[in-house]
Amino acid sequence: MIVTESNVKRAFRYRFHPTEAQAAELSRTFGCVRKVYNLALAARTEAWARQERVNYNQTSALLTAWKKTEELAYLNEVSSVPLQQALRHLQTAFAHFFGKRAKYPRFKSRKRSRKSAEYTTSAFRFREGRLTLAKMSEPLDIIWSRPLPEGAEPSTVTISQDEAGRWFVSMLCEDTSVRPLPETDTAVGIDVGLDHLLTLSTGEKVSNPRHERRDRAALARAQRSLVRKAPGDGANRRKARRKVAKIHARIADRRRDGLHKLTTRLVRENQTLVIEDLSVRTMVKNRSLARAISDAAWSEFRSMLEYKAAWYGREVIAVDRFFPSSRLCSHCGKLAKSMPLRVRTLKCEGCGTTHDRDVNAAKNLKAAGLAVSVCGAGVRPQRRTPGGQSATKQKTPRRKP
Ligand SMILES: [Zn+2]
Repeated sequence: MIVTESNVKRAFRYRFHPTEAQAAELSRTFGCVRKVYNLALAARTEAWARQERVNYNQTSALLTAWKKTEELAYLNEVSSVPLQQALRHLQTAFAHFFGKRAKYPRFKSRKRSRKSAEYTTSAFRFREGRLTLAKMSEPLDIIWSRPLPEGAEPSTVTISQDEAGRWFVSMLCEDTSVRPLPETDTAVGIDVGLDHLLTLSTGEKVSNPRHERRDRAALARAQRSLVRKAPGDGANRRKARRKVAKIHARIADRRRDGLHKLTTRLVRENQTLVIEDLSVRTMVKNRSLARAISDAAWSEFRSMLEYKAAWYGREVIAVDRFFPSSRLCSHCGKLAKSMPLRVRTLKCEGCGTTHDRDVNAAKNLKAAGLAVSVCGAGVRPQRRTPGGQSATKQKTPRRKP
């Protein structure tokens, strides 16, 4: 994603209602996408065990061979583009793994994995606001909840179905209405927490969406009810599972709304945005529901912040998560010995200042990020400059605080 005046790409997501034939075709495609992804992952894993690397082109050749076998001939029945895209996604997953940004890619499961299929321009037709996918005769019945930008032409179309059974189409388009904002010299540090979603270095605390507490309680109830359903009780289990999925979807929708407003505001107001780099590895360890939801919110927040920063010519700096942001006095720089999570205020032994724990952490993040921004070294940061969806890591030596 490069920021010039004309080529900011932006995804527009809508619900749609497929016909019975379209739903069947898409479900078949999801299945084939999953199959191809898993076969390619198995092939790459076997190669990896022999200390060989298999690249995208080799998996693509494998796909051609698989299609010729009797067993996998059904792969020919769906559009080949989503299958190729699955191989590209796997390639990206491996690039993240080799770059130590993600865990080893996992197999897609029929029940748990997101159902989706990605179409590039050769596999769809978009004319006069009507989108027709390959292997389909009729256009999709899309609910245009907001208009596409004037003259927008999708370059990629992603179809997905969530666990609540809802269908979505996401269109990646150039959005000419996005322009870099005039530069400012304001910076903000953003700390992530559990009781508050975020705390800013300005002292502002952003709480979780208004309904989230109630939604979470409802979710916990629905999950308990699902667990109680006997394995033989198919229909009721399905119903209970659908209910859990619906509440999940509701939480996610409301959260996304809130995050969009918040990230737009933060990016408009600040030139430099400093966040903490929470690695995936530590995030998955704690499996409490609250934790899981706040982690999901955090990664969504971060990715929105990064792409909007890129649109508007702002900079997001991620500071190493080992940086002791909560133990350091933001006033005089003295480091406290320990700072257990339940202690909500920091009384500095050096200067006597009493800090709110989260605000202090946010202020420290801001200072660390600005130091990085100016001299390009310091706290082993990962700099993300506008244009960097590619998650490039800049390795700088870690300074002992
Ligand atoms: Zn102090």
